[in-house]
Amino acid sequence: MRIGFGYDSHRLVPGRALILGGVHIPSTLGPEAHSDGDALIHALIDALLGACALGDIGQLFPPSDEQYRDISSRILLQRTLGLLSEAGFHPRNIDSTVILESPRLGPYVEQMRGTLGMDLGIPAAAISVKAKTKEGLGPTGQGLAVEAYAVALVEEN
Ligand code: MG
Repeated sequence: MRIGFGYDSHRLVPGRALILGGVHIPSTLGPEAHSDGDALIHALIDALLGACALGDIGQLFPPSDEQYRDISSRILLQRTLGLLSEAGFHPRNIDSTVILESPRLGPYVEQMRGTLGMDLGIPAAAISVKAKTKEGLGPTGQGLAVEAYAVALVEEN
């Protein structure tokens, strides 16, 4: 067993779709990003890569590379799982926290767990997504950014 940790944040701007954990969330603001800016999946990718000491998302999918423009982060997650598999590992369970002031994410958590479970090939029961706010504190609390933290446990095949 090995453990990995990941973090991501994106500035929120008008005119971008808000996608978190692969789920589209109705919002007037969305992440400024080269890809679709799914901060939860980005944190998760870094946690999975970190567990296997395979580098980080910026090295593997550089924002300077045009092939990743507006790409679904679920595709990046699939490629990450391929790298894990080549290295001889598979994910066992995930814990995560998403911090967003508005809209409230509670109603979407179950859908995120199901989507991530499908992508990771593990039951939703092994995937935790916790939604928090910063109660108005700091830039994220003022609704200027979304943040996500993730921990992943992986097992050698
Ligand atoms: Mg990101």
